[in-house]
Amino acid sequence: MSFRIGMGYDIHRLVEGRPLILGGIAIPFSRGLLGHSDGDAVLHAVTDAILGGAALPDIGELFPDDDPSWEGADSGRLLGLAMEKVAEAGYRVRNVDINVLAERPKLSPFKEAIRDRVASLLRVPPVDVSIKAKTRERLDAVGRGEAIEVHCVALLMEESKS
Ligand SMILES: [Zn+2]
Repeated sequence: MSFRIGMGYDIHRLVEGRPLILGGIAIPFSRGLLGHSDGDAVLHAVTDAILGGAALPDIGELFPDDDPSWEGADSGRLLGLAMEKVAEAGYRVRNVDINVLAERPKLSPFKEAIRDRVASLLRVPPVDVSIKAKTRERLDAVGRGEAIEVHCVALLMEESKS
């Protein structure tokens, strides 16, 4: 049995006039994440982690932000396409661990919904998805509430060819 590990990172600026979407869940807040797609930093970090585990081209190479077909795109679609590429490479997801760094809003009420959504996108049970919501202790741009940053580690396992 062969395992591979991948890491993903993303950061998006918080701006007015955008909905806040994290892990595929709409979160009520006065600002949202700026981006060419829906700005979902959680799904982008997860996508890069699974692509990285399979040593595939990263999210920016697969879905360039100057390509109009990804404008306003549901990041769940991008993750779905990345999952197809990972499957073609012969791997499936074993588990992921995600750190979400945000000063505001408080994410604890939404963690279960995000976990369920990410698990269904990755085709794993929720127990194989960990989401930790943390702050930057008011340090730097994330700490000033100007951005949300996400880190993800993903373990892939070789798909059995039975
Ligand atoms: Zn992103």
